[in-house]
Amino acid sequence: MAHAVLQTLLRAVYPPRCLSCGEMVETDFGLCGACWRDTPFVAGLTCDACGLPLPGDSDRAELCDDCLSVPRPWEQGRAALVYRDTARRLVLALKHGDRHDIARPAAEWMARQTRPVVTEGMIAVPVPLHLRRMLKRRYNQSALLGQALAGHLGLDWCADALVRAQATPSLDGKSKEERFALLSGRIAVNPRRADRIAGRPVLIVDDVMTAGATLGAAAEACLAAGASRVCVTVLARVGKDA
Ligand SMILES: [Zn+2]
Ligand SMILES: [Zn+2]
Repeated sequence: MAHAVLQTLLRAVYPPRCLSCGEMVETDFGLCGACWRDTPFVAGLTCDACGLPLPGDSDRAELCDDCLSVPRPWEQGRAALVYRDTARRLVLALKHGDRHDIARPAAEWMARQTRPVVTEGMIAVPVPLHLRRMLKRRYNQSALLGQALAGHLGLDWCADALVRAQATPSLDGKSKEERFALLSGRIAVNPRRADRIAGRPVLIVDDVMTAGATLGAAAEACLAAGASRVCVTVLARVGKDA
């Protein structure tokens, strides 16, 4: 009851605005019609390993060219958006613009795609930021998404299950091969949290998947710590044309 009153008050003081352009909108935490149409939501047939939309129809699990050429250490992966247009703007605003308000609705979009890969006893964990970047940016956007997503899906949540083992150089401008070489072994399970990973299914959450090197390193760390099954989910998957 108190919550409902507070919601009504907040709505009067802060009318809901489109996440992307700031126009007033009817519903909370959503997009206006124009931005919605401009947001490449993933729908239909997707790659079972990374969530990239695929053409056509199929009644069995299919893989995109990327996931066929780079075997993924995880079992299944999903994405809510294709990384372009409004999706790209939202990811960048969440990552660099202090727009924490984007995490909740974005996690709702992720939950819709991710629900089918969830299994009994699954725990959600975010891809960790390196400490140096964490200090500069003050928050981990993957943790914001992951915590909200775990809430939507009713999963256990562990914010610090994974850690960066060593400083990770910037991946900007690096080739796919260079990214994999640079990331390999750089992510580890936090020794203080190893008991939360061992023997259970794990869902690794990140904001964007490009080549998949970071998620690969995170998945390998979870498997090395005894995870029974590893899946990944991202807000946006970078397609070939991005
Ligand atoms: Zn808008
Ligand atoms: Zn794929």
